[in-house]
Amino acid sequence: MKGKTHAGIGVLTFIAICNSISARLNFSGLIIVTIASLLPDIDHPKSIINRYILPFRNKSTKTVFYTCVGIVFLWYSFLHNGESYLQSLGITFVLIAISSHRKGLTHSLTGLILFSFIAGYTGNIYNIDNVIYYFMLGYGLHLVCDMGTNRGIPLFYPFRNKNFKLPITFRTNSKVGNIIEEFIMILGLLYVVYQLPSIIYR
Ligand SMILES: [Zn+2]
Repeated sequence: MKGKTHAGIGVLTFIAICNSISARLNFSGLIIVTIASLLPDIDHPKSIINRYILPFRNKSTKTVFYTCVGIVFLWYSFLHNGESYLQSLGITFVLIAISSHRKGLTHSLTGLILFSFIAGYTGNIYNIDNVIYYFMLGYGLHLVCDMGTNRGIPLFYPFRNKNFKLPITFRTNSKVGNIIEEFIMILGLLYVVYQLPSIIYR
């Protein structure tokens, strides 16, 4: 599934939730949901999120870059007497480096829990409320949407390598798949344009 569809579904769901609980739109929440809904595809060198991170968008650059980032965090954790936050960041980046697209950590429940823990902890450091909930919403939606595609995802990685998918799936990058994704985006856009004024000026 395309990155923009994931981001669109994240934004749409967040606005729909704000609307249903009559809350005002929270912009930091919206940004966190958007980033979280793109994050699982960090395992793909050409994904939207890597467009802003990697100097060159190919597989070997991705592997080398994230291995180095991971080692830097592990080294910092070593200097700070094994601080577990830095250690988990280091391990996470090494796992991102070695996993190929949709076959590893980032498309699993373990990834969801690990990244949410890091996001929640970071939110605490910077005093931003509810980061973990916004993050889990965006990230979780990405996993559910990818389960709607024919390849599925390794939900229980690293404990089981089997791919799980929803009962009804569609093929990404196929004609029907693209039409479904475009349709979701247009419907979402109409809904957002229609609802936004009432949510912002509530
Ligand atoms: Zn994905």
